[in-house]
Amino acid sequence: PTRSEITYFGAGPAAMPTDILEKAAQALVDYEGTGLGIAEHSHRSALAAKIIEETKADLSTYLDIPDDYEIIFMQGGGSGEFSATVYNLVGAWVTRKQQAGADEEALRKLVAEELKVDYLVTGSWSLKAYQEACRLLGSEHVNLATDARTINEGKFGKIPGESTWKLSKNPAMVYYCDNETVDGVEFPKFPDVLAPAADGSGPIVIADMSSNILSRKVPVKNYSAIFFGAQKNLGVTGITVAVVKKTLLPPSCPQPAPALLRQLGLPIGPIVLSYETIAKNNSLYNTLSIFDVYVAGQVLKKLLATYPDRVDGQQAVADKKAALIYGALEKRPDVYRIVPDKTVRSRMNICFRVTGDDTDASEKSFLDASKKLGLEGLKGHRSVGGIRVSNYNSIPLEGAERLVKFLDEFGKA
Ligand code: PLP
Repeated sequence: PTRSEITYFGAGPAAMPTDILEKAAQALVDYEGTGLGIAEHSHRSALAAKIIEETKADLSTYLDIPDDYEIIFMQGGGSGEFSATVYNLVGAWVTRKQQAGADEEALRKLVAEELKVDYLVTGSWSLKAYQEACRLLGSEHVNLATDARTINEGKFGKIPGESTWKLSKNPAMVYYCDNETVDGVEFPKFPDVLAPAADGSGPIVIADMSSNILSRKVPVKNYSAIFFGAQKNLGVTGITVAVVKKTLLPPSCPQPAPALLRQLGLPIGPIVLSYETIAKNNSLYNTLSIFDVYVAGQVLKKLLATYPDRVDGQQAVADKKAALIYGALEKRPDVYRIVPDKTVRSRMNICFRVTGDDTDASEKSFLDASKKLGLEGLKGHRSVGGIRVSNYNSIPLEGAERLVKFLDEFGKA
């Protein structure tokens, strides 16, 4: 099939707008008449600096990111950030204790008695992040504040009520995943119990927004850091963005000396995962893929040109597409069973089963029939099976409508 005959609902990497890919393909050969491609120009050239600055500015404008946040481009994917958050936030915790007057002996005691990182485990990705924290820190320092499987027969699909979360007293961070790509579970809003007080004080909250960033408004000021891989709503695979509150960076909060961390038995992260190092070097500590930043920048420019009211405009479209698709599924409860609970359904990853005497056979015929119509990438994650519609920003309303028509027709047949 040709590109124009396909609507691709894959979960990531996701489909990209064709006009942006065509422009990017040209830029790979010759970037703006320089005779050299964008992936060949030095990452330290003036034109690379301009691309980085414009992309940061456009992201800030689109998401309304306050001035007291730093935007950094990193590598290592979302998974790299599972580790980066642990290293950087535990480091910040040590620095704060030092700033409050703790010497090495006091620190040793504080680490043993008080150091915790809290995780809300609501799906496969927050589970992976939690496991990484246990691997790096030792599980005695990792508090599983909630595990959504405990209220849903061992499976993900619900978010336990906030009043049941067992948060630590002063954790180095509370970590959660805003949208669980595999399980189709999305936090409907920022959790009330984590909200900052009027004076801005409150828990240190970190969120993985890899699969719903740019699709809805984000109360950035409630977070100490958010991160997201580019490969769903932002661009092509290869860069990860971290939006980090400046109070976590020097001069407010320099990372502790490696020798001190070693004395305290705490992990010392790779330099390329250090927010401080990457921020200090304007994301150019080492070779950054400027091509990836360029593509992300083009996506943001297109979003800003399409939606004068910025992310609100895209949010309205995303919500509408999701409502259409869920509506079509709900119309045929005899054929489709939506997996997650209605209150936490993801607008981005719509997970359901095709029922029948033999679910496997029903789902196979669903996938075969959809593929024939150019509706691709619908197979659920290998760990959970079923069907997953990834309703990212690049899926146009007409794409969602085409899918809805198919859901109706398949349901009838
Ligand atoms: N977090 C979420 C929500 C994801 O969906 C993914 C990947 O799909 C990751 C993290 C891991 O990202 P990566 O594959 O870039 O490490």
